[in-house]
Formats: sequence, structure tokens, C-alpha cells
Amino acid sequence: MKQISCPQCGQKIDLNLVACPQCHAAQGLDALAGIDPDLRIKNQRLAVWFSFLLGGLGIHRFYLGQYMKGSLYLLFSWTLVPTVLGWVDAVRTLKMSPFSFEQRYCKKPKFAY
Ligand SMILES: [Zn+2]
Repeated sequence: MKQISCPQCGQKIDLNLVACPQCHAAQGLDALAGIDPDLRIKNQRLAVWFSFLLGGLGIHRFYLGQYMKGSLYLLFSWTLVPTVLGWVDAVRTLKMSPFSFEQRYCKKPKFAY
């Protein structure tokens, strides 16, 4: 059986799996397509890149389901303050363990705003 390592937690997993059994990160193209909206699978690395490159527009906040914060980033994007905040978010997300990332962003949207 061919195996790959999960891009999110490094666990060796079967190539054909659509989601990592350890951290539930979507694999391959499914990571971008979103196989099941109820699972709220988020790719941590993608979130880091969004924060870093598009943080000034709040794209990473929208990606993580925080639409209120995303709107604020977008609203104040002309001040360039959200761009700096985006870099801070990128570093913060980068340092976050896959487990706490999942705890924080991959749950039901109740507490995310
Ligand atoms: Zn994983």
C-alpha cells in the first residue's frame, strides 16, 4: 500500500484516504474542494499562506469562517494595519499545533466570529 505523510501533522497515511485519520486534514485535491462542509476541514498551511499573502484583505479570516473579523480586515485594508495583523496571524497559525488548530477552527461555527 502506497503511503504519504500528512502535510499537516506528518503522520504516515494511506494515499487513497481523503482525510488524515489523526488530524482530519483533507488530503490532495479534496483539501481545496472541501469534501464535507459539516466537517469544516481547514488546511493549516493554506491558512498560513492566506494570512501572509492576503491577510490585508482578511482572506484568511473568511477562510477560517470568521466572517466578522474578515469584514473588519477588509474594511480597514486601506490603512495597511490588517496587512501587519495578517503577518501576526500567519506566525501565530504557523506555531499552532495541528491539534489546537483543529480545536480552534474546525469545530462548528458557533464560537467563531
Ligand atoms: Zn494529519
